[in-house]
Amino acid sequence: MTMRTTATTALRTCVGVAILALGVTAFAESGARPRIVCSTTQTANLALQIVGDDMEVVCILGPGVNPHVYQPVPGDSRLVETAALCLQNGLHLEGKNWMQTLARDNGNKPLVTCTDGVQPLDLEYEGQTVKDPHAWFDPRNAAIYLNNILAAVIKIDPAGAARYRSRTDLYLQQLRALDAWIVKQVSLVPVERRILVTSHDAFNYFAARYGFKVRSPVGWSTGSEIGGGMTPARRRLVVQSVRDFKVPAIFVETSVNPKMIRQIAEEAGVRVGGELYSDAMGEAGSAGETYLGMMRENTLQVVTALAGTR
Ligand SMILES: [Zn+2]
Repeated sequence: MTMRTTATTALRTCVGVAILALGVTAFAESGARPRIVCSTTQTANLALQIVGDDMEVVCILGPGVNPHVYQPVPGDSRLVETAALCLQNGLHLEGKNWMQTLARDNGNKPLVTCTDGVQPLDLEYEGQTVKDPHAWFDPRNAAIYLNNILAAVIKIDPAGAARYRSRTDLYLQQLRALDAWIVKQVSLVPVERRILVTSHDAFNYFAARYGFKVRSPVGWSTGSEIGGGMTPARRRLVVQSVRDFKVPAIFVETSVNPKMIRQIAEEAGVRVGGELYSDAMGEAGSAGETYLGMMRENTLQVVTALAGTR
């Protein structure tokens, strides 16, 4: 995956002009690789599993960057202008639909909403129901993302369909193996201790799949949109839950300021069990730089912190 910081604007503009002039069908003849521009690190990593080196995958958000509150910069528009295809998570993960706007306003690019076909979980927040966007935390949903991306990639390059399908088949097997492995790992945590307290509501799909309860002081979005923002009542509920359930540890997230969780841990008298990858994956070279790595490391953090005897 090429992060946008590694490409120069001049190069991007140059490639963009070439791609626009040639059109999608001429990619093979030109030798230029079609470029997929993704909003989030998760969608970019899944796309990479399908296209390998046949296409270039570029991600707008860097590791640890929060998609709820991201504000696109002019360089993002120039990047999207060069795209053959754009990917977004959807379900309003991208605050104010910034990826959809970028794709529309910079050449009306084809846009895959990776959560299409996912059965969304509802979140109740102050009397309103919102759809939870963090669907990738159930590997069965990641498989849906993958198939959505595959269909769009084949449309761009039908000649490469067999390769894209083969890579997808292999990765689907890895997702099934991951799911089975997580089931086995969390079985080490007694059911009454399966409560996941994190900065914001990112882990409902993980919780629903693997039998955890979740509590967060912020709500589903860290932005100022519907459902976002911490309330004193919510915070009291979290502290009380931590005490009631005798939770041994609570967690901070890589893409959210850890201050509030540290304060809650102190107030409730529990320790911080570690840092979880939530809305963004890890830096290149870190254990969480891939989707599989992120899921593996999160699971190990949770199991290690919650399974031990108090
Ligand atoms: Zn989030």
